[in-house]
Amino acid sequence: MERHQITGHTELIGLMAYPIRHSQSPATHNAAYEKLGVDIVNLAFEVNADDLEDAIKGLRALKMRGSNISMPNKTIVHKYLDEVSPAAMLCGAVNTIANRDGYLIGHNTDGIGYVQSLKDNSIDPAGKKVTIVGSGGAATAVQIQSALDGVREMSIFARDDSFRDNALETVDKINKNTNCKATFYPLEDLDCLKKEMASSYLFTNATGVGMKPLEGQTYIPDASFFPKELIVTDVIYSPHETAMLKMARKAGCKTMNGQGMMLFQAIAAIELMLGQRVDSEYMKEKLGISYVYED
Ligand code: NAD
Repeated sequence: MERHQITGHTELIGLMAYPIRHSQSPATHNAAYEKLGVDIVNLAFEVNADDLEDAIKGLRALKMRGSNISMPNKTIVHKYLDEVSPAAMLCGAVNTIANRDGYLIGHNTDGIGYVQSLKDNSIDPAGKKVTIVGSGGAATAVQIQSALDGVREMSIFARDDSFRDNALETVDKINKNTNCKATFYPLEDLDCLKKEMASSYLFTNATGVGMKPLEGQTYIPDASFFPKELIVTDVIYSPHETAMLKMARKAGCKTMNGQGMMLFQAIAAIELMLGQRVDSEYMKEKLGISYVYED
């Protein structure tokens, strides 16, 4: 690996989360900084909730350009910031801190990344109906940003577990704060799921069903749930093609996995921290990313 020439001028951007050593994020960010020609390095720091306040004080004191934030810190870091973006506020989660001359602004680029990955593939749900399954962090970000970006109608399904109330809150927030009309349905009602999918432009799995330890699984009973005009996306990026996406592709649907969301959330975060946008085609080639399937 070629190393960035670190000098006295080199600046720092972090990633604060725990655990974090497995993350691809620093490699993605460092590749982008190299392409942009900026003298910055990105390093992952094992920071848990107990250390977060001190870590943010450190970010300020060291004049770091910003930081990416992942679990368990996404839902608590807003307490230590000066401002939080409207999308991050509605999501109740921050994944990016931009340092504007000592003034720290929290953003959430997960949903932005998802919407940009759709656009990158000429998929535009604005003015249309979508069905999204999920009630966790990824689902909330995708649902809120899609509503903010002009989706007309959203059917949100979630199973009856400890996350379910998040989905109910998201429906309420969308209906109160955007022009989108959101409705909650229990995931246990599969007839209803089939009906809502059939009348949607886009269907999204935003749960962990399909990745380890649930790899190979899907809550969709059979291919009759996938009319071939339906566009089908999954936020999961590993495996590249979940059992759900495979079923949809075989039914003739255009499908997209979560690699695009992951890439574009990083591109959006870099733009917010540095004011510069890295070329997404370069990044896809550099990282070996391709995420749309059409038979
Ligand atoms: P989370 O723990 O916050 O939420 C988990 C969600 O999965 C909940 O809605 C829960 O109800 C649902 N769920 C779990 N088991 C289920 C089952 N058996 N049946 C139905 N629903 C079930 O997790 P998260 O952070 O929202 O992550 C969810 C997925 O999104 C993960 O696979 C993660 O890798 C992926 N993700 C992708 C990106 C990206 O950039 N592509 C970003 C964040 C998360």
